[in-house]
Amino acid sequence: MTQLSEFHSIQALGDALRERRLSATELARDALQAARQYRDPHVFLHIDDALTLAQAQAADAALASGQAGPLTGIPIAHKDLFVTQGWRTTAASRMLANYVSPFDATVVSHLRAAGTVSLGKLSCDEFAMGSGNENSAFGPVSNPWDAERIPGGSSGGSAAAVAAGLVLGATGTDTGGSVRQPAAYCGVSGIKPTYGTISRYGIIAYASSLDQAGPLARSAQDLVPLLDAMSGFDPQDSTSLESCDGRPNAAGRIQGDYAAAQGAFAAAGQQPLKGLRIGVPREFFNEGLAPDVGTAVEAAIQAFVALGATRVDISLPRTRLAIPAYYVIAPAEASSNLSRYDGVRYGHRAEHYTDLADMTSRSRAEGFGDEVRRRILVGTYVLSHGYYDAYYLQAQRVRRMIVDDFQRALAQDCDVIMGPVTPTVARRIGDNRHDPIADWLGDIYTLGVSLAGLPGMSIPCGFGGESGHLPIGLQIVGRYFDEGRLLALADRYQQVTDWHQRTPEHA
Ligand code: GLN
Repeated sequence: MTQLSEFHSIQALGDALRERRLSATELARDALQAARQYRDPHVFLHIDDALTLAQAQAADAALASGQAGPLTGIPIAHKDLFVTQGWRTTAASRMLANYVSPFDATVVSHLRAAGTVSLGKLSCDEFAMGSGNENSAFGPVSNPWDAERIPGGSSGGSAAAVAAGLVLGATGTDTGGSVRQPAAYCGVSGIKPTYGTISRYGIIAYASSLDQAGPLARSAQDLVPLLDAMSGFDPQDSTSLESCDGRPNAAGRIQGDYAAAQGAFAAAGQQPLKGLRIGVPREFFNEGLAPDVGTAVEAAIQAFVALGATRVDISLPRTRLAIPAYYVIAPAEASSNLSRYDGVRYGHRAEHYTDLADMTSRSRAEGFGDEVRRRILVGTYVLSHGYYDAYYLQAQRVRRMIVDDFQRALAQDCDVIMGPVTPTVARRIGDNRHDPIADWLGDIYTLGVSLAGLPGMSIPCGFGGESGHLPIGLQIVGRYFDEGRLLALADRYQQVTDWHQRTPEHA
């Protein structure tokens, strides 16, 4: 039993730290040991005791001087896509196996300034491309609920670390579902806010028009201070938003909106969600959805109805088109973003080569894994002369139509959208080895939200699979900048259910 495992919320641990019942340094030492001894050695890609303990000592100093905030001394860890000074940043790729950044990503420095203590870097799919954390060059990560299964991806290490109780929060990134899907598979909560809310500065780029960071934690309540600290305008990122619906994109915004929504629910009395229209997209409940997932999600929606909300059937007619649109646009952007790994400026350089072109091509062939190479090839192809109009431009048109579907539904029919995160529970490691496209299809419910740049979250809502022990997630999607209300809604649900409090037995 570690000290950390005695605390089930950031609030409870924060109280213990502020009352000095526990020191941040002791806690960090203990947490580092637990992380090292954890049965799956692939969850963390880099741990450095000295760096962590220095942060813990700074947290203790803040706690001693009464300057502590809600996150001071709280152990977290970062997806290895966020660059960090000191710790290596590899994007789980051989290409960056020894890369150490000279600066911290904005998200990392924001969380640091909020007093969190980082235990290190968490595994993910290589360059965030994947759905199972199997595309890591450093070995697959297992699901804490079943060691033979994937934790999801690409933020698989983040979800596994939270589910296993190694940290109370973790950063993730979501380009097409990578915060929501692993959260669902591992039975934790995760949120991807509106595109532009969190700075992308220092996040290794995959598909820039889609990439958005988000936190993973046990509960919606725990996500609030994490998301709040991560958010905010950053002049270093040209797509960072200065304002959200007319209000500044600044620290405190999420917390404020969350508190306001909670207040409104409390004032509504017995039927706290009265007036809330939940749109349930018909296209999310078709033959591809496993019955166990469908049943759990439907029961969760009924729990919201019992709290006063109204269920409305809606249609997102272009749902199926999200897959081809995403798998043209994301690889296109990736092929451009990843051109910087040329063996000169960053990362791996081949040892043997004949000339400059040969050096670049060998360095890239050796440094990138199969899935990354596949996407670079697809991306380069769809951007090439003669195919650009047929594929890339067409995908952009489809993207616009998908955005319109969501906008129309959220303007006319409903206030939030609810449905499954994934069609099934977590599959076995290695299952889709011979069919790389199979995983792409599993992204069907998350991709549209990313293409539209809308806020989306995943919260645990039940268990399924043959054993009945594999977590299932409920997806909640809101209007632009509505993340405070999404979190308050999720919190309401978590007050009347205990799925989020269940923890894997043998983690
Ligand atoms: N599974 C999707 C992909 O492979 C999403 C990944 C992500 O969101 N980073 O691209």
